[in-house]
Amino acid sequence: MKINRNKWQTAFEKELNKAEKRQLSKVKRFYKSEYNKGVVSFLAEGQTNFQLLFDNKDLLNIYRNLYSDIGLQFAKWYAKNYDKYLSKGINPSEYVGEWTNKFASFGSAVGAQRVTLVSGTAKQTLIKVTQNLMRDPEFMTLGNTEKGRILKSQFNRYSQYQSERLVRTEATNAANFATMESATTIFPGAQMKKEWIASFDDRTRSTHSEAGASEPIPYNNAFMVGGSLMMYPGDPSGPASEVVNCRCSVAPFPVKGAQAVSEITDINFGIGGAASTGFGLTDVVSAISSTLVGAGENTAFIPAKTLQEAEERMLKFANSVNFEGLTLKKQNEILNALEDVLGKYKSKVKNDIGFQTERSGSWGVAGYRLENGVPSNPQYLRLQKTYSKSADKLSKKNAEIFLRNKEYRLKQWEEILSRPDLNAERSAYYRDKIQKLKSTKRWTIEGERSLYTTTAHESFHIVDYTYGARNVFSEQLIKNNIVRNEWYQVSEYGGSTIGELWAEVGAAIQTKTNIPNGFIKAFEDTLKIIGAI
Ligand SMILES: [Zn+2]
Repeated sequence: MKINRNKWQTAFEKELNKAEKRQLSKVKRFYKSEYNKGVVSFLAEGQTNFQLLFDNKDLLNIYRNLYSDIGLQFAKWYAKNYDKYLSKGINPSEYVGEWTNKFASFGSAVGAQRVTLVSGTAKQTLIKVTQNLMRDPEFMTLGNTEKGRILKSQFNRYSQYQSERLVRTEATNAANFATMESATTIFPGAQMKKEWIASFDDRTRSTHSEAGASEPIPYNNAFMVGGSLMMYPGDPSGPASEVVNCRCSVAPFPVKGAQAVSEITDINFGIGGAASTGFGLTDVVSAISSTLVGAGENTAFIPAKTLQEAEERMLKFANSVNFEGLTLKKQNEILNALEDVLGKYKSKVKNDIGFQTERSGSWGVAGYRLENGVPSNPQYLRLQKTYSKSADKLSKKNAEIFLRNKEYRLKQWEEILSRPDLNAERSAYYRDKIQKLKSTKRWTIEGERSLYTTTAHESFHIVDYTYGARNVFSEQLIKNNIVRNEWYQVSEYGGSTIGELWAEVGAAIQTKTNIPNGFIKAFEDTLKIIGAI
């Protein structure tokens, strides 16, 4: 049995159209009002200084609002479809708060990566249009009322086009992210599979029809789309060429024997398979929305000269630290990494260096602080307080996830390789990938001093946040002929997102761990371009 793809996709696109229409009117209103302010100031002052318009904070709020609005619609839509078949269904209204927070945080995380470009494009448009008209002698002889009318009509067209592009780019991501989240509210991820359903008007993208024609895959695994791995259509970790204008959908469904499956009587959805673990969908969310404890002072990094000094400074940095089980040797590992990375690359942790008070699934986090739910500049860095106790356990768990992912990918590629219609070029391509993956050995860069390595990794996130390094790094990787799907060659974890790859490459260089040269070159060139060295 299979999902009725036509029915599903028709319903999905109908919902998507509704969502886009609603958001478009809001976003367009914002564009129009900002452009209007620009026109007014241009007419009053006769010059083109638009720095205060299209403020990053306003734009971030637009992303938050878009993601929570569209997300909530689709989370409910998915839950309602299941509700029909569950005798004891879930009540979406119970989850509205949780969902709204999650989708808004995700919107913030996506927005944080986009607003600089979006705002820059709008300001460039203002400058271009006004300067063109200033060079037009006929326009310059007109009165202000007439000038205003002409400017307004030009900017109305830009408002329409630019807001459409913004909404269309984000809506598919928001909708599919929410569908995935909604599904895990009903069934555990490990007991689900998912299908990529290609959109009707997606004919030109053969990679999406291919993904749509494949068998369902485990919920926690990534789809193979062209040469890239994506969790769902619109996944922002995929390349722009696979994301822009895509209207495909993801359809998650429980495998046979899933916990809630006994309550499903007639659901037309597929039959079971093995559960698997992969990258969490919400990595980017949890990294950004972690709650913070305490606040420290701005810190400049000068190496400590004595152990006593190191200890004193550690106490000063980490005001919530519990020193039990944390030796001076370990403190120095942390201090050295902070000094080596943040000192060298002129970055500051503006909020605090602290210790995670709860035992968590990772050794450390770095992130932005949120103000009114919007990421603001102060950056923080956290390490596990229970580090020494949990390090071994985490290492073991990570090794298991790594092996599972590796086996899954190898199987997937070997399957492709066995297809009778595969041409020689593609076949060589996949043989090469399999060869490379087989020689990949690690989940994360761990180094010999793992606390040093972890701190360095997190510190490189701060460097990224300080300079917006990831966008430049992306370009440099492409320049060095490294495609998305090769990132895992640094480490499996580095293969998850561009931010993690950046931190992993940094940590590898810092600890002299052997990784392919192209990554090192791209990393060092990025540091030069962004002005960190
Ligand atoms: Zn598509």
